[in-house]
Amino acid sequence: MKKGFDKISYAIDSLRADMIDTLSEMISIKAVSAKSGGRGESDRAEYLESVLKGWGIQARSYSYKDDTGTERPSLVASIGKCKRTIWIVAHIDTVAEGDISLWSTDPFKAHIDGDMIYGRGTNDDGQAVISGMYAMRALKDSGTELKYNYGLVLAANEEEGSAYGMQKLMLEGIFAKGDMFVVPDWCTTDGSAIEIGEKGMLWLKITVDGKQAHASTPAEGKNAFRYMVRFLDKVDELLHNKYTKENRLFRPVYSTFEMTKHEKNVDSINILPGREVAYIDSRVLPEYKLDEVMDDVKSVASSVEFRDVKIAIDVVNREDPAPVTSSDAEIVKMLAGALEDLRGIKPELVGIGGGTCAAFPRKEGMQAATWMTGDEVAHRPNEYAKISDMINDAKVLAYLFV
Ligand SMILES: [Zn+2]
Repeated sequence: MKKGFDKISYAIDSLRADMIDTLSEMISIKAVSAKSGGRGESDRAEYLESVLKGWGIQARSYSYKDDTGTERPSLVASIGKCKRTIWIVAHIDTVAEGDISLWSTDPFKAHIDGDMIYGRGTNDDGQAVISGMYAMRALKDSGTELKYNYGLVLAANEEEGSAYGMQKLMLEGIFAKGDMFVVPDWCTTDGSAIEIGEKGMLWLKITVDGKQAHASTPAEGKNAFRYMVRFLDKVDELLHNKYTKENRLFRPVYSTFEMTKHEKNVDSINILPGREVAYIDSRVLPEYKLDEVMDDVKSVASSVEFRDVKIAIDVVNREDPAPVTSSDAEIVKMLAGALEDLRGIKPELVGIGGGTCAAFPRKEGMQAATWMTGDEVAHRPNEYAKISDMINDAKVLAYLFV
């Protein structure tokens, strides 16, 4: 262990009750987007800003109006007078509670049971918000000389792609070329994996327009369902036969293309549907360009289109793959070193199909490692965080700076 760290470790342990209180208060202040029936992060950001202020840490709020007119504030704070900064990026928005009948307790009231705190946003990403804040506080209070500035980003709008969060912050001149990022927003149960790469993501909405008719007289209409089935079958075959490269960093090692949601069409069995809407979720290895996938999907659509049948392809969500952070990158080595020193584990480096805030600095050529300790309970009913993980992760984060 690095010299003098025991003092900081002890300081973090002694903040335990405070950390639980702040997480509990934070999750009682909803931060769900307007699109999901909420009012955004404003109240929660205001609360967290006041907590930081109480510790003598001045956070700056960067707020942008989203397409519903809702303010989406992110908080940015830093301490230290070094050349380079390591930014800890956690997000403060959450998804909605989902089916409330599946929850055993009120999702917006912290329920503590032994080492567990239950509530929406405890794991995703409240635990990381608290670890990031209290590691900063412990370092500040201890007066330790920092090796890097401690930067904290409490980001908005992550759950819907960060267009009004991290993507905007990248344009504000906050981050410098040599800065590094840790994004605690993807976890393994013992913290033994560091995520260094993410696949590209492409969500497509497919709309087939034909002509509705009575099912007994199909010649009077154009059955949109039939053309949707043809399209999906062809596109599924093409994508799976063409995009076959494997990259052993990733889980799974190949690109994935899945038809997922399908909108309700007609109410009766004897109606020939005139319109069909379905969706495809693609996760594409960085070896490929999403433009190429798009071109293929469009070409299949035009091959299936027939007389009065039109197929429209709309992009619902697109995140082009960011370059993978090298396994030799400083931040990866430092994080791996911290895990070895503090937990005696040699972490595995992985790539995933999901997307986190790490993609944006990676696109700007900056190093980013995604890491956290916890169970995979994000977006589920009865979501929880373990208090011990929150405390021990704060120690790992603080360790990077001494
Ligand atoms: Zn998250």
